[in-house]
Amino acid sequence: MNENIIKRNELLAQKVIKGLESRNMSGYYAKDKEEALKAALELIPEGSSVTMGGCMSAHEIGLVETLKMGDYNFIDRDATEDKRAAMLAAYDADVFLSSANAMTDDGVLVNIDGNSNRVSAIAQGPKKVVFIVGMNKVCSDTDAAMKRARNVAAPINAQRFGLSTPCAKTGACMNCKSPDTICCQFLITRFSRHKDRIHVVLVGEDLGF
Ligand code: SF4
Repeated sequence: MNENIIKRNELLAQKVIKGLESRNMSGYYAKDKEEALKAALELIPEGSSVTMGGCMSAHEIGLVETLKMGDYNFIDRDATEDKRAAMLAAYDADVFLSSANAMTDDGVLVNIDGNSNRVSAIAQGPKKVVFIVGMNKVCSDTDAAMKRARNVAAPINAQRFGLSTPCAKTGACMNCKSPDTICCQFLITRFSRHKDRIHVVLVGEDLGF
């Protein structure tokens, strides 16, 4: 990666981390996927029950495979018949993994959801939430983050899951009320009442969508 981009990401990450700290959340900067994996594992003690709501970024840094192979109780919703039981188990997990659809440079996290299991677990339930967020998701303010979530993340996710939404066809949000909409809930996480619950590993590479 270009040296100037690396420097810019490091500087911007320091601003994001300060913003997170002002909101009772913790941030860490990893310059690449390898460092991100190490930082994430330091937040997840062996023996923890761990689950996740769709998090490509955790796959991309190798975290999901490492947890599945290691000494963790990884609750794999995709590998179980009883999806509802797996979703409910998430609320009592030690650690919930997530990415963010977007976040602001002062530490506000923005997520949209169709089933809403992901945003509800971020909001409450799991003892710890670990976000893996590529620096490509950092936006200048909440408006820009919402625009990113609806015009970048949502269309790509709609296409990925083969959903029949306007954004899957046009590549931009049409503010639909389609039965397939993945914009049922918007979660803006601007403060954590519980210290040491929300941790954000920022990664100096593009991750997810
Ligand atoms: S509201 Fe509809 S069109 Fe807009 S991003 Fe969400 S699913 Fe796509």
